[in-house]
Amino acid sequence: MNILETTGLTKIYGGISANTDVDFTLTKGKITALIGPNGAGKSTFVGMVSGRIDATRGKVMFDGQDISHLPAHKRIQLGIAYTFQITSVFEGLSVHENVALAARRTFKGDHAVFAKCVTDALTRVGLEDRASQIAGDLSYGHQRLLEIAMGLVQNPKVFILDEPTQGLAEAEIANFITLIQSLAGETTILLIEHNMKVVMEAADYITVLDQGSVLASGTPTEISNNKAVQAAYLGKSDA
Ligand code: ATP
Repeated sequence: MNILETTGLTKIYGGISANTDVDFTLTKGKITALIGPNGAGKSTFVGMVSGRIDATRGKVMFDGQDISHLPAHKRIQLGIAYTFQITSVFEGLSVHENVALAARRTFKGDHAVFAKCVTDALTRVGLEDRASQIAGDLSYGHQRLLEIAMGLVQNPKVFILDEPTQGLAEAEIANFITLIQSLAGETTILLIEHNMKVVMEAADYITVLDQGSVLASGTPTEISNNKAVQAAYLGKSDA
């Protein structure tokens, strides 16, 4: 079953097309990676899915509802969480306060449940022992985990992770793969990722964008055997 589906999604900037007629689906409970060379249109695409960028034309269906014209905050309320490419943590606040702030965006319930949700999200990413630390004092890797906790606490139906492993050390990347695999099933993950090892290990499905259009979609095996993908991307990748 598809939880999210785009049809003909297009963004034109001053005559230049960043995305052209992108048909894309997210299978419920699975990890789908979106890959492609720099400038392929990945950020523009997720911007249109999350509502931060207005589409020139095309449609976004989410959980049976046409959300094409909803603003970003409405899409968050419906269950689309997004972590930014550039870290969006409030550095002067504690780890716990950061997650609590994120939780307030969607939470409707009493205080005890709220506190438990915040603690659960921190536990999930392994930051429970650092709850009272100032976020800005965390290592870069831990800040990225905090960002994931800030998304998770919103209990998203779709969780968009934009280059989550950028700047992480090898050991942190291995832990990250384990973490997102443990989240799939409960939520649906859209992963924008340059690290091909992460993509091949973690993703159930891959969509390749090239020059703003879908070049191929399939399983990791299908994508790594696809000649057009090899020519356009994998051969040139830094993986
Ligand atoms: P990267 O991996 O480098 O982040 P990307 O695949 O996310 O790249 P986009 O950032 O979506 O690619 O860019 C797609 C194309 O659209 C590029 O040619 C880019 O220059 C262009 N573009 C993106 N944003 C704008 C904008 N605000 N105004 C004009 N052109 C833009």
